[in-house]
Amino acid sequence: MKAVRIPKPMEIVLEEVEKPVISSPNEVLVKIKRVGICGSDMHIYHGTNPLATYPRVVGHEVAGEVVSVGEAVTNLKPGDHVVVEPIRYCGKCYACRKGRPNVCEELSVFGVHEDGGMREFVVLPAKQLHTVDPSLDWDEIVLAEPYTIGAQATWRGDVQEEDTVFIQGCGPIGICILKMAKIAGATVIMSDLKAERLAFAKDNGADFVINAGNQSIEEKITEFTNGEGANVVIDAVCLPSTFELSTKVTSVAGTVVVLGFDERPSQISQLPITKKELTIVGSRLQTNQFKKVVSLLNENKLKENGLVTHKFALSDVQKAFTFVEENPDIVRKALIVFD
Ligand code: MN
Repeated sequence: MKAVRIPKPMEIVLEEVEKPVISSPNEVLVKIKRVGICGSDMHIYHGTNPLATYPRVVGHEVAGEVVSVGEAVTNLKPGDHVVVEPIRYCGKCYACRKGRPNVCEELSVFGVHEDGGMREFVVLPAKQLHTVDPSLDWDEIVLAEPYTIGAQATWRGDVQEEDTVFIQGCGPIGICILKMAKIAGATVIMSDLKAERLAFAKDNGADFVINAGNQSIEEKITEFTNGEGANVVIDAVCLPSTFELSTKVTSVAGTVVVLGFDERPSQISQLPITKKELTIVGSRLQTNQFKKVVSLLNENKLKENGLVTHKFALSDVQKAFTFVEENPDIVRKALIVFD
């Protein structure tokens, strides 16, 4: 079978490898149907993901069909359509004991720390697979993982109905957060530098948009919230300056959600945090969000609605990575199609 391997940064090969086999009773063999290309796959390709090791089969946004199951597996059967939950954890450390295995001390992410889904077949423990309504399009369900990132960010921000949420950045993650915030019943303000990305956010339910290139975010947030500020600010731009801005435009008793990996410091004074009694939280990967997202997919409440812009055959995977690299303004989500 074929697998996409990144042997070292800036190199990508489609190679012939052995088909995996079930070796433990709780495992499942899955035929891959779609894999999304994520910014973090591009970081592994570019050598800018400090957590990744090489060589690596990338891909953590994965949908496929069950081929066979180990003898202890009772909740899955051949033919089931599944999405992959890409985290593996120890179950014993403090984070795991607190019910937050996404930040497990020994966390292993499928496609980052271990070989992922960009190959024709994978074997995974049944607990990392979630069954989805088989009538749904593969192009819809492959977005389950990015939606869980949005679900995690809104959960960490404790987004409630009637909250006003300000999401910085209208890239794929910003849009996934938007969809989850709208499902929660919030009013959503979004910012970006690109008019077409702001228009897409509006098409997907954003109530207000701000062009950060020619409008004052602070003034517009004040205007849209009648001076209150945004109750929850979620930063999907992830620059030192957007983190600084987050604490400024948050309302009293508000929450700032941080998703970035930038190591450069931000200059944030203590005063707004104490005076407004802000909550500042990190949001990484997801915990317990697949169930929720799969239910929403099954209920037709989550639709890609233009989020998937490009599809490439497995044989064109090198072309796909180059295209995504060279066209950041027109690619929202690109998929690799297996067949
Ligand atoms: Mn992703």
